[in-house]
Amino acid sequence: MDLQVYRKKRKFDVTPEPRGRAAKGKGNRFVIQKHAASRLHYDLRLEHDGVMKSWAVTRGPSLVPGEKRLAVHVEDHPIEYNSFEGTIPQGEYGGGTVMIWDRGSWQPEGDPHKGYKKGHLDFSLEGEKLRGRWHLVRMNRRHGESKEPWLLIKSGDEEARKEDEPDILEEQPLSVASGRSIFEIAQGKGRKRVWHSNRSAKENVKAGAIRGVASSNRKSQPHAAPLPDFMPPSLATLRTVAPTGQGWVHEIKFDGYRIQARLDHGKVRLFTRKGLDWTGKFPNIAAAVKKLPARNALIDG
Ligand code: MN
Repeated sequence: MDLQVYRKKRKFDVTPEPRGRAAKGKGNRFVIQKHAASRLHYDLRLEHDGVMKSWAVTRGPSLVPGEKRLAVHVEDHPIEYNSFEGTIPQGEYGGGTVMIWDRGSWQPEGDPHKGYKKGHLDFSLEGEKLRGRWHLVRMNRRHGESKEPWLLIKSGDEEARKEDEPDILEEQPLSVASGRSIFEIAQGKGRKRVWHSNRSAKENVKAGAIRGVASSNRKSQPHAAPLPDFMPPSLATLRTVAPTGQGWVHEIKFDGYRIQARLDHGKVRLFTRKGLDWTGKFPNIAAAVKKLPARNALIDG
């Protein structure tokens, strides 16, 4: 969608959404669809030139920087397909179950056209599960291979994990769109959606293949739930130029500790951004938080 259209559809003085920058490296959508077809794999799709460039990551992404995951470059997908979660009938191309496992935006480093042509894309992901820097590197095609083999590799950064840390695929196996498992999607729990891969995107959309996905993202019925053990805070992203426009407020960053305070049924605990309990290091702050009126809260500052 053209950025002008995107902006027109949103009133930036009332919504907290970013405006989107038209400069090189503007926010582009990405999605990873967990696809239980003849073999389970994870389809990574990056928006580029109006289509979703797609790689089938056979073993799924790994957050361990040394682990190279084979990513077979497959055909471009229409952007509409990003919002699809449901089943593709057996016998049709890709027959099986599709889950929206992660989604968000990707930022290329440097010119993505050059990188794509060269077979080396450096980029960062701003998803609900995957974040930080990644590489996609093309390998030489072996004789008889019809599709290009690439490798998906995590860069060493704050979002990376060590080998002995949990595997993100096992830790967060469910849909970011509906919270469902592959099995529940296959059963049509909650809603049943079908995509016919032998029909156009337009026909599928018209037939209701992606209906209801957008609205399910909104928390229409908030309800009280216990605080999770730890909520990872949203972190700042380094940029060379500060964004401009009415949707932004700037403040000076003072050095110090970033601490998350939680008030859970009268009990205060202070956590670092990695989830370490530092309540004992800042007793004064803990005491001050305890006096706040909220009964259960997360205060991130
Ligand atoms: Mn697939």
